[in-house]
Amino acid sequence: TLSDRLTSVLQNLRGKGRLTEADIDATAREIRIALLEADVALSVVRTFIAKIKERAKGAEVSAALNPAQQVVKIVNEELVGILGGETRRLNLAKTAPTVIMLAGLQGAGKTTLAGKLAKWLKGQNHTPMLVACDLQRPNAVTQLQVVGQRAEVDVFAPEPGNGVGDPVDVARRSIEEARRTQHDIVIVDTAGRLGVDEELMRQAADIKAAIGADEVLFVVDAMIGQDAVSTAEAFRDGVGFTGVVLTKLDGDARGGAALSVREVTGAPIMFASNGEGLADFDAFHPDRMASRILGMGDVLTLIEQAEQHFDQAQAEKAAAKIGTGELTLEDFLEQMLAVRKMGPIANLLGMLPGAGQMKDALAQVDEKHIDRLQAIIRGMTPAERQDPKMINASRRLRIAKGSGVEVRDVNDLVNRFFDARKMMQQMAGRFGMPGGGGNRA
Ligand code: GDP
Ligand code: MG
Repeated sequence: TLSDRLTSVLQNLRGKGRLTEADIDATAREIRIALLEADVALSVVRTFIAKIKERAKGAEVSAALNPAQQVVKIVNEELVGILGGETRRLNLAKTAPTVIMLAGLQGAGKTTLAGKLAKWLKGQNHTPMLVACDLQRPNAVTQLQVVGQRAEVDVFAPEPGNGVGDPVDVARRSIEEARRTQHDIVIVDTAGRLGVDEELMRQAADIKAAIGADEVLFVVDAMIGQDAVSTAEAFRDGVGFTGVVLTKLDGDARGGAALSVREVTGAPIMFASNGEGLADFDAFHPDRMASRILGMGDVLTLIEQAEQHFDQAQAEKAAAKIGTGELTLEDFLEQMLAVRKMGPIANLLGMLPGAGQMKDALAQVDEKHIDRLQAIIRGMTPAERQDPKMINASRRLRIAKGSGVEVRDVNDLVNRFFDARKMMQQMAGRFGMPGGGGNRA
C-alpha cells in the first residue's frame, strides 16, 4: 500500500521544517504509484500529480504537520474535491413522473441497481416504478421482475410471448402507464453488451430521446479499472449521461475508476453500490473514496488529529520566541502538553506508516519519559522556567528532590533544552521564522 511505500519518505523527512522541491518530488512519486495501483488512468494521474506539485510548492509550512504529511493532506483534499466537487441530489421533474434511465455495459449492475434505487426512493416516500427495457437477454425481464418483488415496487414489462419487443416502444408506453397509475418516478433498466458497440449506443440513445430522461445514470463496475475511462467516454459520446453510479465497491477494487471517470467525463458520481443485496447501496461519499484510493486511512486520521490538537496561536507565539531566543522551559512544557493532548504517544506513533521500524523512537518518547520531564519542569519556580540560566547546582538538587528524580535527570533536561534552543535559533535564522530575521531558503 501507499502507507508502506511512504514509510521511507516519511522517515527521511522527519525533523525537516519545510517542503523542499526534492521532498515534494519524492512524495509525489510514491503517490503516483499508489494512484496507478488503484487503477487510476495514466492520463488522469499525470494531470493530478502536476496539480498536486503545484499546490505543494505554494503551500505554507505547517507547524502541525511534517512535510510528507502535508503533501498527503493536500493529495487527500484534492481527491475529495475532485470526487465530490459537484455531488448533488437527483434531479426531480417539475411534472411527474421523473424519468431515470440506467445505462452501462452488461454485468455492470444496472438491474440490481434498479431495485436498490427503487427501494431507496420508496424509503423517501416516492412511488417508483421499474421498467424493463432490456429485451436482449432472455432472462432480463424476469430478473427485473424478481428485483421489483424484492423491493416491493411495481414493474412495467412487455407482455410475454410477443417475440422480441421494441425497447423504445416499451419505454414510451411506460411513461403513460406511470402517469395513469400515479408513480412519481420511473426507473428504466436498459440492455448492455459485453463491450461497447454501436447498436447498443444507438438503442440507449433512442430510449433516452423517446422518454426525455431527467437523469441518465451511467452504471460502471469499479472492478474494471482502467477500462472505465474508455467505456465512460463511449457512453458520454454515444448516449450522454448526467451522473455516475459505481458498483461492486465491496470487491477489492481500489476505486481508481471513480477518479478516472469523474475527471474524464466531468459528471458527478451520485451513488455507490457495495453488495448484491438491495440494502447495499448508498449516496456516494467522496472522503471515503479518497481514503480508499490513497489507502492511507490511518495516516489521514493521524493528520486530522495532529491538526485538531495543534494550537496555532500557541505555536506562533513559540515560533516568535524561538526566533528571538526567548524560548522558555514554560513553552517547552506547553509544547509537550500539546503533543500529549493528541493521545497516548504510543498510539500516535503506531498510526504512522512503518511503526514496526520505529521501536527505537518509541522507546525514547515513551509516556513515562514525558511524565518525568513534566514533573521536573513543574518542580521549578516560575522564575526558573522563565530563565533556565539561573538554575545552578543547588537549585538542581532542590528540583530533583522535589520532583522525585536524580540530579542528572535535571541536568539532562536543562542541557537538552539549551541545545534545542540553540538549534531552533539557527533554524529560525535559516528559514526566516518570525523574529529570526533570516531569508526564506
Ligand atoms: P446488468 O447486466 O448491468 O443489469 O447487471 P446486473 O444487475 O445483472 O448485475 C450483474 C451481477 O453483478 C449480478 O450477479 C449482481 O448480483 C452483481 N452485482 C451487482 N451489483 C453488485 C455490487 O455492488 N456488488 C457485488 N458484489 N455484486 C453486484
Ligand atoms: Mg440487466
